[in-house]
Amino acid sequence: MPLSSMGRASMSRALNAAAGDFAHSLRRSLLSELRGACQRGELSLHYQPRVALPDGSPRGAEALLRWTNPVYGEVSPLRFIPLAEASGLILPLGGWVLREAAKEAATWPGGGILSVNVSPRQVEAGVLEAQLDRALAESGLPPERLELELTETLALPDTAEIRSSLARLRQRGVGLALDDFGTGHASLARLRRLPFSSVKLDRLFLGNLPQDAENAAILRAVRQIASALRLKLVAEGVEQPEQRDFLTEIGCEEAQGWLFARAMPAGALRDYWRRAALPAAAARPAPSLAAALPC
Ligand code: C2E
Ligand code: MG
Ligand code: MG
Repeated sequence: MPLSSMGRASMSRALNAAAGDFAHSLRRSLLSELRGACQRGELSLHYQPRVALPDGSPRGAEALLRWTNPVYGEVSPLRFIPLAEASGLILPLGGWVLREAAKEAATWPGGGILSVNVSPRQVEAGVLEAQLDRALAESGLPPERLELELTETLALPDTAEIRSSLARLRQRGVGLALDDFGTGHASLARLRRLPFSSVKLDRLFLGNLPQDAENAAILRAVRQIASALRLKLVAEGVEQPEQRDFLTEIGCEEAQGWLFARAMPAGALRDYWRRAALPAAAARPAPSLAAALPC
């Protein structure tokens, strides 16, 4: 039907359908590019330092995946990680991230904790333990220097099998953080039952501190819950000195955010370590994929 003879409602339907088709074909095209991204060397890891409160001394860094594609440019992980999750590509991709990040962290002068985001899909598929063992064996990184971050935004089934798989990870000496706390199910039962060692509070709750009385109350409550469950509390997305001061006041142990440092390439992080003199004491005491691997 020619556009000129369409009514307002049919025009709107046609435009919505066209937008839906476009989004679908963009997702398909991005996914097809992502499949070859690793072999083409388009993937890299950046690292964002994490610091102790109140003094800001460095404690370690979180590995964050970056993808630069010749057609799409810099693609945000918020865009491509969900595609990788839905397609199953996250399984080999997650293994690659673990190996690369562990290799890099093994070279950090003075140690420091490496945090790596892992997908709940890696746990559910039963591949994470083998990926972890391979990354630790190849890099020589002591397990105590590694912390795995599991996001709360994707539900991980709370089954006996999942619980024992996570418990086995912890028995190796690896830390386990619940990431983005407060943005997903925020299930306290799960926080208690699963063997987490720390909880990362999402930056959603840091807005307008300390004036925002609701955010301030939520933060104080989460601090108490974390203490009761003997979990380390880490705040992410700290941008303002007032946020840092409030977090320090309520006893939040560690923080991450642009106020301290942005995510940076591995080489820049080594310079950052040299300038910040990472203390050695930062280390915390405390199915075959071969055919599917893209890297
Ligand atoms: P995340 O694990 O919660 O990482 C924190 C995100 O917040 C990062 O975004 C970081 O660059 C950003 N950020 C840090 N400080 C600030 C701040 O002060 N202000 C603001 N506005 N943002 C800040 P990024 O790198 O875009 O990553 C987004 C998400 O993608 C990550 O959230 C994580 O869930 C996921 N992701 C990244 N790399 C990986 C990976 O290797 N594997 C998996 N499974 N997920 C990953
Ligand atoms: Mg994270
Ligand atoms: Mg997070």
